Amino acid sequence: MPRGRFSKLTVEERKERKREQDKRYRAANIEKIKAKQRASYAALSEEEKEQRKSDMREYANANVEAATQRKSDWVAANLDRSREYQATYSREIYSKTDGAKKSSRVCAWKRTGMDPGSLTWDEVYTIVYSTTHCEECEIELVHGRYGANRLTLDHDHETGAMRNVLCHKCNVRRG
Ligand SMILES: [Zn+2]
Repeated sequence: MPRGRFSKLTVEERKERKREQDKRYRAANIEKIKAKQRASYAALSEEEKEQRKSDMREYANANVEAATQRKSDWVAANLDRSREYQATYSREIYSKTDGAKKSSRVCAWKRTGMDPGSLTWDEVYTIVYSTTHCEECEIELVHGRYGANRLTLDHDHETGAMRNVLCHKCNVRRG
């Protein structure tokens, strides 16, 4: 009598095999699957979409610990990939966000001993970056690290008090 295809597998093994097959299928067809999901989400009514979002939030909230655990297990098992991912993320994505640009700019100001006085750093940033021309020579300012007409914030080196938004050239001249 011919042996059945699954005759040597236990129920658990069969389930495991099915899981593996599903995983492979998913990996090989991920774009197709995502497109289908997007299409079915788009077909929902606004009310259904809201319901779906709140279900997902609820699910996420109820499974925070499990998700955190899965993530830290993955990181522990894939240290190199995790570091590489973080480096890529910070270089390619985070550093290009407005928040990152602002916080690195503000850090640099703090390092020079600048004192924002009664303003918040957010306000200083907004004022400085809405200034389009040097307050001394009136040349048009550019943003960035290079160029004589790059935007700089002049401050009193003794007291830390901020003075003017200047081009690099005027800032150097003023000292
Ligand atoms: Zn100038």
